[in-house]
Amino acid sequence: MSVNFHELIEGFHNFKESYLLKEHEFFDRLAHGQSPKTLVIACCDSRADPAILMGCRPGDLFVVRSIAALVPGADHAGDPDAVLAAVEYGVKHLDVDHIIVMGHSNCGGIHGALFPKKS
Ligand SMILES: [Zn+2]
Repeated sequence: MSVNFHELIEGFHNFKESYLLKEHEFFDRLAHGQSPKTLVIACCDSRADPAILMGCRPGDLFVVRSIAALVPGADHAGDPDAVLAAVEYGVKHLDVDHIIVMGHSNCGGIHGALFPKKS
């Protein structure tokens, strides 16, 4: 079900030929900036891609992914954290209108939080 590295390279070439070159005006506009109206905080899980699940195109969503879509609490504001930085950038600089925290079924991160293994 997963792809190997060579298939990823081939996939990128296919993207360039069948998508990027055919929609070059669309991608030229994106090259000059982004203005997504929605920030999505999603799990890293490879089975739950926000853009695919919500039928979005490049530029539609500002996405940050973390295990179980976890976001550090407010008491961590100012800490050097990639998720917090993405949320701050989306809210302060991109001025997003909506924030979606996207969970999914069978999340290993949530399962690990609820049923931690004893070491
Ligand atoms: Zn998950």
